[in-house]
Amino acid sequence: MWSFSRMHRAYQGAVVHWLLLRLLLALAPASAHRRLRVQLPIPIINNSLEPVLGQDRTDTNSVRAEENLQTTFPSTRTPPHLDAPGKTRTEGTSEPQLIIITEDPPQNELGYRLPRALQPLHYNITVQPFINGNYSIHGSVQIDMVVLQATDNITLHVLDLDVQLNTVKLTPAGGSLPAITHFSSDKVRQVFLIHLNETLQPGRRLRCSMDYIARLNESRGFYATKYTDNLGHERNILSTFFQTTFARKAFPCFDEPGMKATFQLHVVREENMTAISNMPLLTTTPMADQDGWVMDHFDVSPPMSTYHLILIVSQLEYVDATSHGNIPIRVWARPEVLRHTTFIQEIASKLLAFVEEYLSVRYPLPKLDFVAVPGNIKTAFEGWGIILAYDEFFLVHDPATDDESHKQDILNIQAHEVAHQWFGDLVTPDWWNDIWLSEGFASYLHHLAVNHLSPMNNTVEEDILETTQAILYEDSWESHSINLPVFRPEEIEYIFNSIAYYKGTCIIHMMSHILSKDTFRMGITDFLNTWKYKNARQDDLWRHLTQAGHQQGTLASGMTVKMIMDTWTLQSGYPLITVVRSPDGTSATVYQERFHLSVDGNSTDGRFDKWWVPITYTSQDTANFSDTQVKIWMKDTETQIRIPSLPSRDHWVIFNLQEINFYRVNYDDHNWKLLIHQLMTDHQAIHLTNRAQLIDDALDLALAGKLPYKTALDVTEYLVNETNELPWAACFNNIELIESLLKDTPAYTGIQKYLLSLLVPLFKVIGIENVSLTQDIQKQHSEMVKWACSLDHPDCIHLAQTLYWQWMKNLEDIQLVSADVLETVYCTAIAHGGEEEWQFAWKQYFQTSDDQHKDLILRALGCSRDPLVKAGYLHMAFTPGVNLRQQDPFQVFSSVASQVPGQHIAWNFLLKNWENVTAMFGKDDDVVNHFLKTATKYFNSRRDLTQLEVFVKTNKNEPSVVRASESVIHQTNFNIAWMDKNYDTVCEWLNDHGFPTSPLPS
Ligand SMILES: [Zn+2]
Repeated sequence: MWSFSRMHRAYQGAVVHWLLLRLLLALAPASAHRRLRVQLPIPIINNSLEPVLGQDRTDTNSVRAEENLQTTFPSTRTPPHLDAPGKTRTEGTSEPQLIIITEDPPQNELGYRLPRALQPLHYNITVQPFINGNYSIHGSVQIDMVVLQATDNITLHVLDLDVQLNTVKLTPAGGSLPAITHFSSDKVRQVFLIHLNETLQPGRRLRCSMDYIARLNESRGFYATKYTDNLGHERNILSTFFQTTFARKAFPCFDEPGMKATFQLHVVREENMTAISNMPLLTTTPMADQDGWVMDHFDVSPPMSTYHLILIVSQLEYVDATSHGNIPIRVWARPEVLRHTTFIQEIASKLLAFVEEYLSVRYPLPKLDFVAVPGNIKTAFEGWGIILAYDEFFLVHDPATDDESHKQDILNIQAHEVAHQWFGDLVTPDWWNDIWLSEGFASYLHHLAVNHLSPMNNTVEEDILETTQAILYEDSWESHSINLPVFRPEEIEYIFNSIAYYKGTCIIHMMSHILSKDTFRMGITDFLNTWKYKNARQDDLWRHLTQAGHQQGTLASGMTVKMIMDTWTLQSGYPLITVVRSPDGTSATVYQERFHLSVDGNSTDGRFDKWWVPITYTSQDTANFSDTQVKIWMKDTETQIRIPSLPSRDHWVIFNLQEINFYRVNYDDHNWKLLIHQLMTDHQAIHLTNRAQLIDDALDLALAGKLPYKTALDVTEYLVNETNELPWAACFNNIELIESLLKDTPAYTGIQKYLLSLLVPLFKVIGIENVSLTQDIQKQHSEMVKWACSLDHPDCIHLAQTLYWQWMKNLEDIQLVSADVLETVYCTAIAHGGEEEWQFAWKQYFQTSDDQHKDLILRALGCSRDPLVKAGYLHMAFTPGVNLRQQDPFQVFSSVASQVPGQHIAWNFLLKNWENVTAMFGKDDDVVNHFLKTATKYFNSRRDLTQLEVFVKTNKNEPSVVRASESVIHQTNFNIAWMDKNYDTVCEWLNDHGFPTSPLPS
């Protein structure tokens, strides 16, 4: 799965959210495409185990479509309701009844797991969705299973389904079966139990079948969405959204990833709709008793997890993309936007070919579809054989309205989903704690695939660097291990976070260098071939990699990948490596400890603090940054080791080459001085990635109190000569917090002038308005332009205003500005303009139909520096009837709060309007976190802290406020401590370097 909110979470605290730095794929002329709605002409091979719905139902039970097109179900047809106590079947009391409703939580967390007594083998599912009717779905499921352990019940996941108890039937595969005594349900565990009068013995096979009614929901399970076509007609779409634990809302099943089975799906649909699923369509048959309805029969899938099953019923249309060998690839979208899918049509087969070749494992399914579902869930999902975008943004690129960088978004996201076809779909984690294997590998392969397809000359190491630095920052705070034990559905949802995705990516990247890239590839090919169509755990992967490492001699025989990698996946955080050289420089003592950002610089989690650390380094006399093989291992039992054979005292050493390994490095003062001298005299003697590392490590070490700010700021001075975006991004990401904390203080002019002194030479080269510069250069440096303008560089302001005014006169002139600096132009013109500029943008918000343009305008409107305008904007956004989109008030709040002059305005607004705000948006953790964190991120005074504590006290009965308060109070305390410890030092450094400041008033 790929999600925008997840991406942004990964970069919290960072200025640069996601620099899209590569040249775009050259677009070949749009391939010829057909607009067809007929199904693929696939030969009819019905290898279904069973007859389908309608043939095996009795007449009295069969569902008549006409009746169900009513807006509500006729009450006489309402089945016995699983979730309503006492409601049982009406035919007679001698039949099994639903007699127990359990709402108590299980005694221990393992109780949330299904018993291991039964293994599903095959699901035969028939559904008839009334998407143009009452939104019900009539379903029938037959599950073939085998008994693994003696059991007297069949426990299935069921959530919000009406199981028709009188249809529950067990069919033996030979012999007689125990009778059903009663049914029970357990709402907490989300299970439905069929109790038997005797015990089923291991080895027994049986089929369990039942009819049920499901509902179309707004988000999970069967997911309903609609759109209005060009003629103004409303069109309904049924889609599925099962990850993580929502297949159980669509059909009774063993809804755990480790319980794979084959699936055959039959879909009863209206003739003017189309159904698509994981497997190709076999045949379509008429529905004898339902005019206008037909049934599609899909081919049987290979074994897969329940959450990978996909169904789309819609009036979307498709075009054929370039096929991959004999694998047809189709792209589905609304007919109105189908012509804007040429980019994905072009890259789909290239992505498939790259991943297949890299893994040396054939794409396992007979076809691949990409489906753009109109909707606004910013997520794409890796259905096996059918990749879904729950927002057209992820597949549709309209050259008239979307900027070029949007293509890079599509490439990034779809590379991730294509990689999942192997990692996640073909081999699936046995349980959710190992989901990082699937998400980490999909993200890692996406970097490889994008690097392969993009014509830029960046290395994979350069591509991954910003992710590494963002996660190093995030993982410095209270964090959790990549592999986290989870049991409850809400815990399972939580684990899909940036640690699983991006720390997962980073340590996989590290592992590929530890073993060498070729050996690593051999190991994962072997792993996939052994575990295909099955489920695996991280230990299984470790075994295959160890084997490959030993075979190829890249891993010492006494070592295993498990002993190394468990220290990285089973404990949170990461090490700081401190290098202290001997007085003559020729040896060094290297220490490891956990790196932690906290008020006192210590971890509150004292359980773990040591890792197997791969040490790589080079030195000034024989600098070689490309040898990334491990030079020496630091064991997880060692706090220090000695490294001999270093150069003499006056030559620098640098550790963690290309920042491939997931740790930070600190040095003794003398080595820092040597490195700084090198940066100032000839920075290119140090590899680009290590220049970015020195900036990032130095500023974070200072933030953690491990390095004097004077040294860290000395490291940044060389940037005046730096033209590459990576070291600059490392600087911006870190300096943002300091710049914001100093904003309202007398030191601000000093830091502002210092940063401008670094930036201006480069700004003069790149400019802002020069459209003759190639777009990629503007894109690379758009963050620099943003900083130059936000630091009030007069030329930058002048250029932005000129462009904005030109645009005000002639709307077409917006095209003069590169999309990547457009937001800076808006923001700057509004920040330095008056009512006219503000009102113009506000009007544009209502005139544009482009959602991303609307988002950009909302962010820019918060840039006004007039407190009254800011406050008024906030009030307006939360006033009913202003006609903003539903989630827009969130955006407005962030835009006002995210800049220091606005954060107290936003905070005061929140204090006064808390009840209204939470009445509008609810009090879920996400909502409360968003408001509290954005409003208080740069709080840095004791007065701020007191206000925050009073607010938390007043709302102490709100669990979500209490949960959010821990981290916001921690951040405020951290900021206060930072001011106490570092304000004077930073001022002194600025004054010494010719950027005068005043002392902080007491
Ligand atoms: Zn994913």
